[in-house]
Amino acid sequence: MTAIPVMIGRRMPLPAASGSSDAFAAEAAVPAAGAPLVDTHGRVHRDLRISLTDRCSLRCTYCMPEQGNEWLAKTSILTLDEIEQIARVAAADGITTFRLTGGEPLLRTDIVDVVRRLAAIEGPDGRPVQIAMTTNGIRLPELLPGLVEAGLQRLNISIDTLRRDRFHALTRRDRLDDVLAGIAAAAASGLRPLKLNAVAMRDVNDDELVDLVEFATAHDAQMRFIEQMPLDAGHTWDRTRMVTQDEILAALSRRWELTPVPGRGGAPAARWTLDGGPHTVGVIASVTAPFCGDCDRLRLTADGQLRNCLFSTTEYDLLPILRTEPAAAHEAGIDRMLRSCVHGKLPGHAINDPAFLQPARGMNAIGG
Ligand code: SAM
Ligand code: SF4
Repeated sequence: MTAIPVMIGRRMPLPAASGSSDAFAAEAAVPAAGAPLVDTHGRVHRDLRISLTDRCSLRCTYCMPEQGNEWLAKTSILTLDEIEQIARVAAADGITTFRLTGGEPLLRTDIVDVVRRLAAIEGPDGRPVQIAMTTNGIRLPELLPGLVEAGLQRLNISIDTLRRDRFHALTRRDRLDDVLAGIAAAAASGLRPLKLNAVAMRDVNDDELVDLVEFATAHDAQMRFIEQMPLDAGHTWDRTRMVTQDEILAALSRRWELTPVPGRGGAPAARWTLDGGPHTVGVIASVTAPFCGDCDRLRLTADGQLRNCLFSTTEYDLLPILRTEPAAAHEAGIDRMLRSCVHGKLPGHAINDPAFLQPARGMNAIGG
């Protein structure tokens, strides 16, 4: 059986292994395994976000519903061996960073082994890949020593509020103390740069922006505010309620002199120094100042779907390759699918287009 990219509601033609007359005939001209993953807009892909699970210990309102989640089937979740197989091909094709995410990646019982196996992978130049993780921080105190020993290099921890009642309302769980303990453990570890993420929300935490930055700098971390995106499972996102980058910067400028940091490259966050530095704050303005032109990211969902954008409605299914094709064909099949996924990448996410369609998956099932 051969794998096909899946478009929500319909199937796209097969990516061709060699020349063919179908819609993927252009694949015949696509570089062979080992060449960089360059899309039709010239963007070179270096970053693969790997979602390890769609499960989570929290239920953030902007991400998951309180109840009634349609969980991914356990049998469809990629195994450790399958993740490693995909990552090896991706690294050979020029991916240099794997960011582990979810759902909550620390809920995966084999998380230390995942880090260990991926950290042992080298790129074509013989350099080891970078392993980063985005987490809600719960379970970090117990797991961090093992993760660092296994090869974890960078951490982003999400914290939207420092107030316990708000945290409970926002995440539907009373676990602020666990998150704070996770951040303390990360700050005490040698992992730097340490980044803290908050989704800025009107009348929820927009009066805490300065407090969050001060909290981050006290932990030698960089605070990053994220504009809320239409990725909640309940499809309740409302543009008119969104806190924009301009509003975030206006609130922070009342406390600090903000100076733009040049040289952003493909990073999602634009950064500013606070009163000349050394501390900085970042803003990820996916809605009001999209940075698609420099995007170097691909995503792999926990159930083996490659995605070329958070907002894509097309997925490229690796499971049939991994589970029904002979082992000898896996490497070529994964490579072909990576290239089809990159080839199909649009110039931008079109959130601001009236015809924009929110993806069927919530953020927890895509991998943030
Ligand atoms: N559970 C981990 C965490 O919260 O850090 C990793 C997964 S979470 C989906 C990754 C990031 O996506 C978090 O920083 C979270 O705040 C962000 N996120 C989730 N839903 C979002 C939305 N609708 N808009 C903007 N950011 C969102
Ligand atoms: Fe869980 Fe992260 Fe989504 Fe919050 S943002 S519900 S912590 S996956």
